[in-house]
Amino acid sequence: MAQLQHTAIGEIPVIRETLYHTFRAGKTRPLEWRRQQLYQLARMAQENSDAFVEAIGKDLGKPPMETWVGEVGGLIDRCLQCATSLEDWSKPEVIDVPDWQKPWQPTIYKAPKGVVLIIAPWNYPMILSLQPLYGAISAGCCAVVKPSEVSPAYSQLLADLMPKYLDGDAYRVVNGGVEETTELLKYPWDHIFYTGNGRVARIIATAAAKHLTPCSFELGGKSPVIIDSEYDVKLAAKRVLFGKCTNAGQICVAPDYVLIPADRQDEFIAALKEHHESFFPEGPLKSPSYGRIVNGMHHARLTGLLKRTQGKIVLGGQVDDKNGLAPTIVKDVKEGDSLLEGELFGPILPIVPVKDLAEAITYVSERDHPLVLYAFTENPQVKQQLLDNTRSGNIVFNDTFQQLAVNELPFSGVGESGYGYQVMKYSYEGFTHARGSIDMPKEAEPHLEGRYAPYTDDKFKA
Ligand code: NAD
Repeated sequence: MAQLQHTAIGEIPVIRETLYHTFRAGKTRPLEWRRQQLYQLARMAQENSDAFVEAIGKDLGKPPMETWVGEVGGLIDRCLQCATSLEDWSKPEVIDVPDWQKPWQPTIYKAPKGVVLIIAPWNYPMILSLQPLYGAISAGCCAVVKPSEVSPAYSQLLADLMPKYLDGDAYRVVNGGVEETTELLKYPWDHIFYTGNGRVARIIATAAAKHLTPCSFELGGKSPVIIDSEYDVKLAAKRVLFGKCTNAGQICVAPDYVLIPADRQDEFIAALKEHHESFFPEGPLKSPSYGRIVNGMHHARLTGLLKRTQGKIVLGGQVDDKNGLAPTIVKDVKEGDSLLEGELFGPILPIVPVKDLAEAITYVSERDHPLVLYAFTENPQVKQQLLDNTRSGNIVFNDTFQQLAVNELPFSGVGESGYGYQVMKYSYEGFTHARGSIDMPKEAEPHLEGRYAPYTDDKFKA
Protein backbone atom coordinates (compact mmCIF):
# COMPACT_ATOMS: atom_id res chain seq x y z
CA MET A 1 0.00 0.00 0.00
CA ALA A 2 1.22 3.49 -0.88
CA GLN A 3 2.55 5.66 1.96
CA LEU A 4 0.46 8.65 2.95
CA GLN A 5 2.15 11.57 4.62
CA HIS A 6 -0.26 12.91 7.23
CA THR A 7 -0.53 16.65 7.77
CA ALA A 8 0.80 17.64 11.20
CA ILE A 9 -2.09 18.37 13.57
CA GLY A 10 -0.51 21.68 14.60
CA GLU A 11 -0.44 22.82 10.99
CA ILE A 12 -4.22 22.61 10.57
CA PRO A 13 -5.18 25.86 12.38
CA VAL A 14 -2.30 27.63 10.62
CA ILE A 15 -3.60 26.52 7.21
CA ARG A 16 -7.09 27.63 8.15
CA GLU A 17 -5.86 31.03 9.30
CA THR A 18 -3.93 31.51 6.02
CA LEU A 19 -7.05 30.76 4.01
CA TYR A 20 -9.20 33.14 6.05
CA HIS A 21 -6.62 35.86 5.63
CA THR A 22 -6.65 35.30 1.85
CA PHE A 23 -10.42 35.34 1.70
CA ARG A 24 -10.74 38.52 3.73
CA ALA A 25 -8.15 40.19 1.52
CA GLY A 26 -10.47 39.56 -1.44
CA LYS A 27 -7.94 37.63 -3.53
CA THR A 28 -10.42 34.95 -4.65
CA ARG A 29 -13.17 37.35 -5.74
CA PRO A 30 -12.17 38.58 -9.24
CA LEU A 31 -13.68 36.35 -11.93
CA GLU A 32 -10.47 36.45 -13.91
CA TRP A 33 -8.56 34.98 -10.94
CA ARG A 34 -11.17 32.22 -10.45
CA ARG A 35 -11.02 31.38 -14.15
CA GLN A 36 -7.24 31.12 -14.01
CA GLN A 37 -7.44 28.73 -11.02
CA LEU A 38 -10.03 26.60 -12.85
CA TYR A 39 -7.72 26.37 -15.87
CA GLN A 40 -4.89 25.43 -13.53
CA LEU A 41 -7.00 22.66 -11.97
CA ALA A 42 -7.83 21.34 -15.44
CA ARG A 43 -4.15 21.59 -16.38
CA MET A 44 -3.13 19.62 -13.28
CA ALA A 45 -5.49 16.80 -14.31
CA GLN A 46 -4.44 16.93 -17.97
CA GLU A 47 -0.67 17.09 -17.51
CA ASN A 48 -0.69 14.36 -14.85
CA SER A 49 -3.42 12.13 -16.21
CA ASP A 50 -1.12 9.10 -16.40
CA ALA A 51 -0.02 9.60 -12.81
CA PHE A 52 -3.63 9.88 -11.62
CA VAL A 53 -4.63 6.75 -13.57
CA GLU A 54 -1.67 4.91 -12.07
CA ALA A 55 -2.31 6.07 -8.49
CA ILE A 56 -6.02 5.20 -8.61
CA GLY A 57 -5.07 1.87 -10.20
CA LYS A 58 -2.79 1.23 -7.21
CA ASP A 59 -5.50 2.11 -4.71
CA LEU A 60 -8.44 0.37 -6.32
CA GLY A 61 -7.18 -1.74 -9.22
CA LYS A 62 -9.46 0.49 -11.26
CA PRO A 63 -9.14 -0.07 -15.03
CA PRO A 64 -7.54 2.99 -16.73
CA MET A 65 -10.59 3.56 -18.91
CA GLU A 66 -12.85 3.84 -15.86
CA THR A 67 -10.49 6.35 -14.26
CA TRP A 68 -10.27 8.37 -17.45
CA VAL A 69 -14.01 8.44 -18.13
CA GLY A 70 -15.23 8.69 -14.53
CA GLU A 71 -12.58 10.95 -13.04
CA VAL A 72 -9.85 12.67 -15.09
CA GLY A 73 -11.72 13.41 -18.34
CA GLY A 74 -14.93 14.50 -16.63
CA LEU A 75 -13.04 16.79 -14.26
CA ILE A 76 -11.13 18.54 -17.06
CA ASP A 77 -14.30 19.05 -19.08
CA ARG A 78 -16.24 20.45 -16.13
CA CYS A 79 -13.46 22.83 -15.02
CA LEU A 80 -13.28 24.27 -18.52
CA GLN A 81 -17.05 24.61 -18.78
CA CYS A 82 -17.21 26.29 -15.37
CA ALA A 83 -14.57 28.78 -16.51
CA THR A 84 -16.78 29.62 -19.49
CA SER A 85 -20.04 29.83 -17.52
CA LEU A 86 -18.70 31.70 -14.51
CA GLU A 87 -19.54 35.17 -15.77
CA ASP A 88 -23.14 34.23 -16.40
CA TRP A 89 -23.62 32.40 -13.08
CA SER A 90 -22.15 35.15 -10.97
CA LYS A 91 -23.97 38.10 -12.53
CA PRO A 92 -26.16 39.95 -10.01
CA GLU A 93 -29.74 38.93 -10.70
CA VAL A 94 -32.20 41.81 -11.00
CA ILE A 95 -35.48 40.21 -10.05
CA ASP A 96 -38.93 40.80 -11.37
CA VAL A 97 -41.20 42.51 -8.85
CA PRO A 98 -44.51 44.43 -8.90
CA ASP A 99 -44.17 47.85 -10.59
CA TRP A 100 -44.39 49.84 -7.34
CA GLN A 101 -41.27 48.01 -6.00
CA LYS A 102 -39.20 48.34 -9.18
CA PRO A 103 -37.50 51.62 -8.07
CA TRP A 104 -36.04 49.73 -5.10
CA GLN A 105 -33.94 47.66 -7.55
CA PRO A 106 -34.37 44.30 -5.82
CA THR A 107 -31.24 42.29 -6.72
CA ILE A 108 -29.63 39.00 -5.73
CA TYR A 109 -25.87 39.26 -5.42
CA LYS A 110 -23.89 36.01 -5.67
CA ALA A 111 -21.54 36.11 -2.71
CA PRO A 112 -18.85 33.48 -2.05
CA LYS A 113 -19.62 31.71 1.23
CA GLY A 114 -16.03 32.04 2.43
CA VAL A 115 -13.58 29.33 3.48
CA VAL A 116 -14.91 25.81 3.00
CA LEU A 117 -13.95 22.30 3.99
CA ILE A 118 -14.26 19.40 1.52
CA ILE A 119 -14.06 15.85 2.89
CA ALA A 120 -13.93 13.12 0.26
CA PRO A 121 -14.12 9.31 0.08
CA TRP A 122 -11.96 6.72 -1.66
CA ASN A 123 -14.16 5.13 -4.33
CA TYR A 124 -13.90 7.91 -6.96
CA PRO A 125 -11.17 9.76 -5.10
CA MET A 126 -10.40 12.33 -7.76
CA ILE A 127 -13.80 13.51 -8.99
CA LEU A 128 -15.27 13.41 -5.48
CA SER A 129 -12.54 15.60 -4.01
CA LEU A 130 -12.07 17.94 -6.98
CA GLN A 131 -15.67 18.36 -8.13
CA PRO A 132 -16.52 20.23 -4.93
CA LEU A 133 -13.24 22.09 -5.36
CA TYR A 134 -14.10 23.42 -8.83
CA GLY A 135 -17.44 24.49 -7.31
CA ALA A 136 -15.65 26.34 -4.51
CA ILE A 137 -13.20 28.00 -6.92
CA SER A 138 -16.03 29.04 -9.23
CA ALA A 139 -17.90 30.54 -6.30
CA GLY A 140 -14.85 32.55 -5.17
CA CYS A 141 -14.24 30.56 -1.97
CA CYS A 142 -11.04 29.32 -0.38
CA ALA A 143 -10.96 25.59 0.39
CA VAL A 144 -9.26 22.82 2.32
CA VAL A 145 -9.52 19.45 0.60
CA LYS A 146 -9.33 16.36 2.85
CA PRO A 147 -9.05 13.30 0.59
CA SER A 148 -9.52 9.77 1.92
CA GLU A 149 -6.78 7.88 3.71
CA VAL A 150 -8.31 4.70 2.21
CA SER A 151 -6.97 5.72 -1.24
CA PRO A 152 -3.45 6.76 -0.15
CA ALA A 153 -1.72 6.77 -3.55
CA TYR A 154 -4.23 9.28 -4.92
CA SER A 155 -4.30 11.38 -1.76
CA GLN A 156 -0.50 11.66 -1.67
CA LEU A 157 -0.33 12.50 -5.38
CA LEU A 158 -2.89 15.26 -4.89
CA ALA A 159 -0.93 16.70 -1.97
CA ASP A 160 2.24 16.66 -4.11
CA LEU A 161 0.66 18.21 -7.20
CA MET A 162 -1.86 20.74 -5.98
CA PRO A 163 0.66 23.31 -4.68
CA LYS A 164 2.36 23.29 -8.09
CA TYR A 165 -0.84 24.32 -9.87
CA LEU A 166 -3.20 26.14 -7.50
CA ASP A 167 -2.61 29.18 -5.32
CA GLY A 168 -1.56 27.79 -1.93
CA ASP A 169 -2.86 30.87 -0.15
CA ALA A 170 -6.37 29.78 -1.13
CA TYR A 171 -6.39 26.02 -1.73
CA ARG A 172 -4.75 23.39 0.45
CA VAL A 173 -4.76 19.64 0.95
CA VAL A 174 -4.89 18.19 4.46
CA ASN A 175 -4.09 14.49 4.51
CA GLY A 176 -4.80 11.95 7.22
CA GLY A 177 -7.58 9.94 8.80
CA VAL A 178 -9.96 10.30 11.71
CA GLU A 179 -7.54 12.26 13.90
CA GLU A 180 -6.82 14.94 11.30
CA THR A 181 -10.49 15.18 10.26
CA THR A 182 -11.55 15.50 13.88
CA GLU A 183 -9.10 18.38 14.28
CA LEU A 184 -10.46 20.06 11.14
CA LEU A 185 -13.98 19.73 12.49
CA LYS A 186 -13.14 21.63 15.69
CA TYR A 187 -13.06 24.91 13.79
CA PRO A 188 -15.78 27.04 12.24
CA TRP A 189 -15.97 26.87 8.42
CA ASP A 190 -18.31 28.64 6.07
CA HIS A 191 -19.50 25.37 4.53
CA ILE A 192 -18.61 21.69 4.86
CA PHE A 193 -19.04 19.45 1.84
CA TYR A 194 -18.86 15.79 2.84
CA THR A 195 -19.11 12.74 0.58
CA GLY A 196 -19.17 9.34 2.26
CA ASN A 197 -21.31 7.24 4.56
CA GLY A 198 -24.22 8.20 6.80
CA ARG A 199 -22.49 7.23 10.06
CA VAL A 200 -19.64 9.69 9.55
CA ALA A 201 -22.08 12.27 8.14
CA ARG A 202 -23.76 12.32 11.56
CA ILE A 203 -20.40 12.92 13.28
CA ILE A 204 -19.75 15.80 10.91
CA ALA A 205 -23.25 17.26 11.27
CA THR A 206 -22.85 17.20 15.06
CA ALA A 207 -19.48 18.99 14.91
CA ALA A 208 -20.82 21.49 12.35
CA ALA A 209 -23.88 22.24 14.50
CA LYS A 210 -21.64 23.71 17.21
CA HIS A 211 -20.68 26.50 14.81
CA LEU A 212 -23.91 26.56 12.79
CA THR A 213 -21.83 25.59 9.77
CA PRO A 214 -24.01 24.68 6.78
CA CYS A 215 -23.27 21.29 5.23
CA SER A 216 -23.81 19.32 2.05
CA PHE A 217 -23.96 15.56 2.49
CA GLU A 218 -23.49 13.30 -0.53
CA LEU A 219 -24.18 9.86 0.91
CA GLY A 220 -25.11 6.44 -0.35
CA GLY A 221 -27.78 3.83 0.24
CA LYS A 222 -29.46 0.98 -1.53
CA SER A 223 -30.38 2.15 -5.03
CA PRO A 224 -33.03 -0.26 -6.33
CA VAL A 225 -33.74 -1.41 -9.86
CA ILE A 226 -37.37 -2.04 -10.78
CA ILE A 227 -38.00 -4.03 -13.95
CA ASP A 228 -41.44 -3.79 -15.49
CA SER A 229 -42.79 -7.13 -16.75
CA GLU A 230 -43.20 -5.70 -20.28
CA TYR A 231 -39.58 -4.50 -20.64
CA ASP A 232 -36.92 -6.22 -22.77
CA VAL A 233 -35.25 -8.27 -20.04
CA LYS A 234 -32.13 -8.92 -22.06
CA LEU A 235 -31.38 -5.24 -22.50
CA ALA A 236 -32.20 -4.50 -18.85
CA ALA A 237 -29.75 -7.25 -17.80
CA LYS A 238 -26.95 -5.75 -19.93
CA ARG A 239 -27.44 -2.25 -18.56
CA VAL A 240 -27.78 -3.39 -14.95
CA LEU A 241 -24.70 -5.60 -15.17
CA PHE A 242 -22.70 -2.68 -16.60
CA GLY A 243 -23.71 -0.49 -13.63
CA LYS A 244 -22.91 -3.23 -11.14
CA CYS A 245 -19.49 -4.14 -12.55
CA THR A 246 -18.13 -0.61 -12.96
CA ASN A 247 -15.52 -0.06 -10.22
CA ALA A 248 -16.54 -3.52 -8.95
CA GLY A 249 -19.81 -2.10 -7.66
CA GLN A 250 -18.07 0.45 -5.42
CA ILE A 251 -20.12 3.41 -6.58
CA CYS A 252 -22.68 5.36 -4.63
CA VAL A 253 -25.05 5.08 -7.61
CA ALA A 254 -24.48 1.37 -8.29
CA PRO A 255 -27.70 -0.60 -8.74
CA ASP A 256 -27.90 -2.29 -5.35
CA TYR A 257 -30.67 -4.86 -5.84
CA VAL A 258 -33.29 -5.80 -8.43
CA LEU A 259 -37.05 -6.10 -8.01
CA ILE A 260 -38.52 -8.15 -10.85
CA PRO A 261 -41.79 -10.02 -11.38
CA ALA A 262 -41.17 -13.59 -10.17
CA ASP A 263 -42.07 -15.15 -13.53
CA ARG A 264 -39.28 -13.21 -15.30
CA GLN A 265 -36.50 -13.81 -12.77
CA ASP A 266 -34.92 -16.81 -14.53
CA GLU A 267 -35.00 -15.17 -17.94
CA PHE A 268 -33.27 -12.12 -16.41
CA ILE A 269 -30.60 -14.31 -14.81
CA ALA A 270 -29.96 -16.17 -18.09
CA ALA A 271 -29.45 -12.78 -19.78
CA LEU A 272 -27.11 -11.59 -17.00
CA LYS A 273 -24.99 -14.72 -17.48
CA GLU A 274 -24.83 -14.20 -21.22
CA HIS A 275 -23.69 -10.59 -20.89
CA HIS A 276 -21.25 -11.51 -18.14
CA GLU A 277 -19.63 -13.96 -20.56
CA SER A 278 -19.33 -11.33 -23.27
CA PHE A 279 -18.03 -8.59 -20.88
CA PHE A 280 -15.38 -10.88 -19.36
CA PRO A 281 -14.59 -13.77 -21.75
CA GLU A 282 -11.39 -14.57 -19.80
CA GLY A 283 -13.25 -14.47 -16.48
CA PRO A 284 -13.65 -11.27 -14.41
CA LEU A 285 -10.75 -11.89 -12.04
CA LYS A 286 -8.35 -12.17 -14.99
CA SER A 287 -9.89 -9.29 -16.90
CA PRO A 288 -8.15 -5.89 -17.21
CA SER A 289 -11.64 -4.42 -17.50
CA TYR A 290 -12.67 -5.33 -13.96
CA GLY A 291 -11.53 -3.65 -10.73
CA ARG A 292 -10.72 -4.86 -7.23
CA ILE A 293 -12.26 -4.35 -3.80
CA VAL A 294 -10.46 -1.46 -2.14
CA ASN A 295 -9.04 -3.37 0.85
CA GLY A 296 -9.16 -6.56 2.91
CA MET A 297 -11.70 -5.14 5.33
CA HIS A 298 -14.28 -4.39 2.64
CA HIS A 299 -13.48 -7.71 0.92
CA ALA A 300 -14.15 -9.61 4.15
CA ARG A 301 -17.36 -7.60 4.68
CA LEU A 302 -18.66 -8.61 1.24
CA THR A 303 -17.67 -12.28 1.45
CA GLY A 304 -19.20 -12.36 4.94
CA LEU A 305 -22.52 -11.14 3.50
CA LEU A 306 -22.37 -13.88 0.87
CA LYS A 307 -21.77 -16.53 3.54
CA ARG A 308 -24.88 -15.41 5.41
CA THR A 309 -27.30 -15.01 2.50
CA GLN A 310 -30.29 -17.33 2.33
CA GLY A 311 -30.58 -16.65 -1.41
CA LYS A 312 -29.08 -18.90 -4.10
CA ILE A 313 -25.81 -17.84 -5.71
CA VAL A 314 -26.30 -18.46 -9.43
CA LEU A 315 -23.18 -16.73 -10.76
CA GLY A 316 -19.82 -15.63 -9.35
CA GLY A 317 -18.71 -15.73 -5.74
CA GLN A 318 -15.07 -16.43 -6.73
CA VAL A 319 -12.32 -14.49 -4.94
CA ASP A 320 -8.57 -14.10 -5.37
CA ASP A 321 -5.71 -13.01 -3.13
CA LYS A 322 -5.67 -9.48 -4.59
CA ASN A 323 -9.01 -8.53 -3.03
CA GLY A 324 -10.84 -9.63 -6.17
CA LEU A 325 -14.49 -10.63 -5.98
CA ALA A 326 -16.25 -11.77 -9.15
CA PRO A 327 -19.65 -10.24 -10.01
CA THR A 328 -22.04 -12.34 -7.96
CA ILE A 329 -25.73 -12.82 -8.74
CA VAL A 330 -27.99 -14.11 -5.98
CA LYS A 331 -31.58 -15.17 -6.73
CA ASP A 332 -34.70 -15.53 -4.59
CA VAL A 333 -33.49 -13.06 -1.98
CA LYS A 334 -36.14 -12.36 0.63
CA GLU A 335 -36.88 -9.73 3.26
CA GLY A 336 -34.48 -10.04 6.22
CA ASP A 337 -31.60 -11.40 4.11
CA SER A 338 -28.02 -10.27 4.83
CA LEU A 339 -27.84 -8.79 1.32
CA LEU A 340 -30.74 -6.44 2.02
CA GLU A 341 -29.40 -5.06 5.32
CA GLY A 342 -27.28 -2.12 4.18
CA GLU A 343 -25.68 -0.63 1.08
CA LEU A 344 -23.66 -3.41 -0.59
CA PHE A 345 -20.99 -1.22 -2.21
CA GLY A 346 -19.55 -4.20 -4.06
CA PRO A 347 -20.21 -6.50 -7.03
CA ILE A 348 -23.08 -8.48 -5.50
CA LEU A 349 -26.50 -8.28 -7.13
CA PRO A 350 -29.40 -9.70 -5.11
CA ILE A 351 -32.59 -10.35 -7.04
CA VAL A 352 -35.83 -9.97 -5.13
CA PRO A 353 -38.81 -11.52 -6.92
CA VAL A 354 -42.08 -9.60 -6.55
CA LYS A 355 -45.68 -10.22 -7.56
CA ASP A 356 -46.10 -7.03 -9.57
CA LEU A 357 -45.20 -3.36 -9.94
CA ALA A 358 -47.37 -2.30 -7.02
CA GLU A 359 -45.43 -4.61 -4.69
CA ALA A 360 -42.14 -3.22 -6.02
CA ILE A 361 -43.29 0.36 -5.40
CA THR A 362 -44.41 -0.47 -1.87
CA TYR A 363 -41.09 -2.19 -1.20
CA VAL A 364 -39.11 0.89 -2.27
CA SER A 365 -41.31 3.51 -0.68
CA GLU A 366 -41.27 1.81 2.74
CA ARG A 367 -37.47 2.01 2.92
CA ASP A 368 -34.92 4.84 3.22
CA HIS A 369 -34.96 7.15 0.21
CA PRO A 370 -32.15 5.96 -2.06
CA LEU A 371 -29.67 8.05 -4.03
CA VAL A 372 -31.11 6.76 -7.30
CA LEU A 373 -34.12 4.75 -8.39
CA TYR A 374 -33.55 2.84 -11.62
CA ALA A 375 -36.63 1.68 -13.49
CA PHE A 376 -36.83 -0.26 -16.73
CA THR A 377 -40.14 0.51 -18.38
CA GLU A 378 -41.41 2.15 -21.54
CA ASN A 379 -44.90 2.61 -20.22
CA PRO A 380 -45.62 6.30 -19.52
CA GLN A 381 -48.21 5.42 -16.88
CA VAL A 382 -45.74 3.24 -15.00
CA LYS A 383 -43.18 6.05 -15.16
CA GLN A 384 -45.70 8.48 -13.72
CA GLN A 385 -46.66 6.00 -11.00
CA LEU A 386 -43.01 5.72 -10.00
CA LEU A 387 -42.53 9.49 -10.03
CA ASP A 388 -45.63 9.99 -7.88
CA ASN A 389 -45.17 7.18 -5.39
CA THR A 390 -41.46 6.95 -4.66
CA ARG A 391 -38.71 9.32 -3.52
CA SER A 392 -35.01 9.24 -4.46
CA GLY A 393 -32.15 11.66 -5.18
CA ASN A 394 -32.33 10.95 -8.93
CA ILE A 395 -34.65 8.74 -10.96
CA VAL A 396 -33.33 7.06 -14.10
CA PHE A 397 -35.41 5.26 -16.67
CA ASN A 398 -33.95 2.44 -18.73
CA ASP A 399 -30.27 2.68 -17.92
CA THR A 400 -27.83 2.79 -15.01
CA PHE A 401 -24.99 5.16 -14.14
CA GLN A 402 -25.29 7.25 -17.31
CA GLN A 403 -27.11 10.10 -15.58
CA LEU A 404 -23.68 11.18 -14.32
CA ALA A 405 -22.68 12.08 -17.88
CA VAL A 406 -25.23 14.92 -18.02
CA ASN A 407 -23.43 18.01 -16.72
CA GLU A 408 -26.61 20.04 -16.45
CA LEU A 409 -28.46 17.72 -14.03
CA PRO A 410 -28.32 18.23 -10.27
CA PHE A 411 -26.83 15.33 -8.35
CA SER A 412 -28.06 14.87 -4.81
CA GLY A 413 -29.52 12.54 -2.26
CA VAL A 414 -32.70 12.93 -0.28
CA GLY A 415 -33.33 11.76 3.29
CA GLU A 416 -30.79 9.08 4.25
CA SER A 417 -28.92 9.50 0.94
CA GLY A 418 -27.99 13.07 1.85
CA TYR A 419 -28.77 16.69 1.01
CA GLY A 420 -27.28 19.53 -1.00
CA TYR A 421 -26.68 19.52 -4.74
CA GLN A 422 -23.62 19.26 -6.96
CA VAL A 423 -22.24 19.17 -10.52
CA MET A 424 -21.38 22.30 -12.49
CA LYS A 425 -23.85 25.14 -11.74
CA TYR A 426 -25.17 23.23 -8.72
CA SER A 427 -21.63 22.90 -7.35
CA TYR A 428 -21.17 26.63 -7.81
CA GLU A 429 -24.46 27.41 -6.08
CA GLY A 430 -23.63 25.13 -3.15
CA PHE A 431 -20.75 27.43 -2.22
CA THR A 432 -22.57 30.66 -3.04
CA HIS A 433 -24.70 32.77 -0.76
CA ALA A 434 -27.67 34.38 -2.53
CA ARG A 435 -27.46 37.83 -0.98
CA GLY A 436 -30.77 39.61 -1.42
CA SER A 437 -30.63 43.38 -1.66
CA ILE A 438 -32.67 46.53 -2.28
CA ASP A 439 -31.44 50.06 -2.88
CA MET A 440 -34.12 52.54 -1.78
CA PRO A 441 -34.04 55.83 -3.72
CA LYS A 442 -34.44 59.10 -1.83
CA GLU A 443 -37.37 59.90 -4.09
CA ALA A 444 -39.33 56.99 -2.60
CA GLU A 445 -39.75 58.85 0.69
CA PRO A 446 -43.29 60.17 0.04
CA HIS A 447 -44.46 56.61 -0.64
CA LEU A 448 -42.90 55.40 2.60
CA GLU A 449 -44.45 57.99 4.87
CA GLY A 450 -47.21 55.63 5.92
CA ARG A 451 -44.81 53.26 7.72
CA TYR A 452 -43.53 55.74 10.28
CA ALA A 453 -44.99 56.22 13.75
CA PRO A 454 -47.34 57.50 14.99
CA TYR A 455 -49.55 54.77 13.54
CA THR A 456 -52.59 56.92 13.07
CA ASP A 457 -55.86 55.50 11.82
CA ASP A 458 -55.57 57.12 8.42
CA LYS A 459 -52.17 55.39 7.88
CA PHE A 460 -53.48 52.08 9.10
CA LYS A 461 -56.39 52.14 6.67
CA ALA A 462 -54.45 53.53 3.69
P1 NAD B 1 -14.13 6.92 3.58
O1 NAD B 1 -13.90 5.81 4.54
O2 NAD B 1 -13.04 7.32 2.66
O3 NAD B 1 -14.63 8.16 4.42
C1 NAD B 1 -14.93 9.40 3.81
C2 NAD B 1 -14.19 10.51 4.51
O4 NAD B 1 -14.62 10.58 5.86
C3 NAD B 1 -12.68 10.31 4.54
O5 NAD B 1 -12.06 11.48 4.11
C4 NAD B 1 -12.40 9.96 5.99
O6 NAD B 1 -11.13 10.40 6.41
C5 NAD B 1 -13.50 10.66 6.74
N1 NAD B 1 -13.80 10.00 8.01
C6 NAD B 1 -13.87 8.68 8.22
N2 NAD B 1 -14.18 8.43 9.53
C7 NAD B 1 -14.33 9.63 10.12
C8 NAD B 1 -14.65 10.05 11.46
N3 NAD B 1 -14.89 9.17 12.41
N4 NAD B 1 -14.70 11.38 11.71
C9 NAD B 1 -14.46 12.27 10.73
N5 NAD B 1 -14.15 11.92 9.46
C10 NAD B 1 -14.08 10.63 9.15
O7 NAD B 1 -15.34 6.62 2.61
P2 NAD B 1 -16.67 5.80 2.85
O8 NAD B 1 -17.56 6.53 3.78
O9 NAD B 1 -16.38 4.37 3.05
O10 NAD B 1 -17.26 5.98 1.36
C11 NAD B 1 -18.21 5.14 0.87
C12 NAD B 1 -19.59 5.73 1.10
O11 NAD B 1 -19.68 6.98 0.41
C13 NAD B 1 -20.69 4.88 0.53
O12 NAD B 1 -21.78 4.87 1.42
C14 NAD B 1 -21.06 5.59 -0.75
O13 NAD B 1 -22.39 5.34 -1.19
C15 NAD B 1 -20.85 7.01 -0.37
N6 NAD B 1 -20.60 7.83 -1.55
C16 NAD B 1 -21.51 8.78 -1.89
C17 NAD B 1 -21.31 9.55 -3.03
C18 NAD B 1 -22.29 10.61 -3.46
O14 NAD B 1 -21.88 11.47 -4.25
N7 NAD B 1 -23.51 10.62 -2.98
C19 NAD B 1 -20.19 9.32 -3.81
C20 NAD B 1 -19.30 8.33 -3.42
C21 NAD B 1 -19.49 7.61 -2.29
